[in-house]
Amino acid sequence: MASDLAVVNGARVSFARHKTEMDESDEGLIRFLMRERHASPFEHSVFRFHVRCPIFVAREWFRHRWSSFNEFSLRYAKATEDFYVPEPDDVRTQIGKPGAYSFEPVDDELAERTREEFREVYEQAFATYERLVEAGVARELARSVLPVGAYTEFYWTVNARALMNFVSLRAADAAQREIRKYAEAVEAFFAEKMPVTHAAFEAAGRIAP
Ligand SMILES: Cc1cc2nc3c(=O)[nH]c(=O)nc-3n(C[C@H](O)[C@H](O)[C@H](O)COP(=O)(O)OP(=O)(O)OC[C@H]3O[C@@H](n4cnc5c(N)ncnc54)[C@H](O)[C@@H]3O)c2cc1C
Repeated sequence: MASDLAVVNGARVSFARHKTEMDESDEGLIRFLMRERHASPFEHSVFRFHVRCPIFVAREWFRHRWSSFNEFSLRYAKATEDFYVPEPDDVRTQIGKPGAYSFEPVDDELAERTREEFREVYEQAFATYERLVEAGVARELARSVLPVGAYTEFYWTVNARALMNFVSLRAADAAQREIRKYAEAVEAFFAEKMPVTHAAFEAAGRIAP
């Protein structure tokens, strides 16, 4: 659903004009819209993603109100034994003050121990969940014992303007590494489908219009 052309036509309707193919003047128009922060034409280009991520990543994602979500429900469906265990290189320690942390890798032994502790908790939590559901406890209540490292899935529909805001905030160094990886993937789709807009976004210092 996303294209540079959708932005161009969103803007050119002001002059009762409609294009079916991009040309150089359209590329210039997109750069102008971005530079001058004439933002609404970017709202006519829309993406829909099917995302699978840990619940703690989804919680950060769902803060982006200018978009639409529908999520897998643990009220209606049974949980799967599917949990996030960081790769050894992603096990890190934090240094500094809140808001200005930097992250350093931990030694191999601590990385492995962390992964092992994650697995143990997940195994125990999932076994408890299964026991409770088997015993007749409602899924909507039994799910309370599942950790935020459990995977969820959702559809995310977002226009290019709100997507740029998401990428600007979440594909940045300050964002948590786990959501940053997803934001980088989102940005790769954005760059592929809307190359002119993406280049203009870069030129504008990666600030959404
Ligand atoms: C590094 C980082 C750390 C964060 N830490 C925390 C934290 O500790 N605690 C926490 O609660 N959140 C935290 N957040 C979430 C953050 O505050 C935003 O809720 C989130 O990034 C969504 O951004 P947004 O509001 O710009 O996006 P959207 O909700 O998609 O909104 C898009 C834009 O619409 C406008 N807008 C939307 N709603 C309103 C409104 N009600 N009034 C006026 N304008 C509006 C704004 O211009 C906004 O930028 C953090 C985010 C990041 C990136």
